[in-house]
Amino acid sequence: MDIELARAWVRAIASAIEGDKERLTRLDSAIGDADHGNNMHRGFSAVLQALDGHEAATVGDVLVKTGTTLISRVGGASGPLYGTVFRTAGKRLTGPEADAGEVADALAAGLDGVRGLGAAQVGDKTMVDAFSPALDAFRAAVEAGGDLAAAARAAAEAAAEGLEATTPLQARKGRASYLGARSIGHQDPGAASTALIFHALADVTA
Ligand code: ADP
Ligand code: MG
Ligand code: MG
Repeated sequence: MDIELARAWVRAIASAIEGDKERLTRLDSAIGDADHGNNMHRGFSAVLQALDGHEAATVGDVLVKTGTTLISRVGGASGPLYGTVFRTAGKRLTGPEADAGEVADALAAGLDGVRGLGAAQVGDKTMVDAFSPALDAFRAAVEAGGDLAAAARAAAEAAAEGLEATTPLQARKGRASYLGARSIGHQDPGAASTALIFHALADVTA
């Protein structure tokens, strides 16, 4: 991944979220407060503006700028959580290019950051349910000798499966947990946006 690819990834996320804004909000209206699509759209619109004319010397600069913008511009839980993902991952990528193994390490640091902030485990019906299997698949693909494109493709598939697997779960973190058993039977909105983020990475690396 180079600086241009990092920018292309973030732009692809922004456009996927714009296209799926209504779906994300619909998911959040079933088990939350119906703002996830708007939160993500507001955040990534601000990110596009912030990156416009932003000078990046490293891959990480792009991702750190993305993360700090999300933290400052998104009010919901997803702002600080995704902000932490991008900021923490970005801090690991200190060169003008990163290979697939370095991207895997950066994503792992991002997931650790989310776990540190939100204390969610796999099975709690959050973005972690998509992120964790995506990271495992990404790393497995790299260890099997796959390049960034192969790893991103594997991660996108695993994230989509992780999203599907949130449907029968009862939420144990975030607003959806207030619903108790009534959170069962719906996909988690944050897992859906995480799946979009990994799909965007697969798209731009293909
Ligand atoms: P809010 O719930 O504050 O309105 P959003 O609707 O933007 O924020 O985001 C909701 C998503 O955030 C949930 O679907 C879930 O995936 C994620 N989330 C909430 N709490 C946590 C947590 N503690 N750890 C990880 N993810 C969380
Ligand atoms: Mg919400
Ligand atoms: Mg909210």
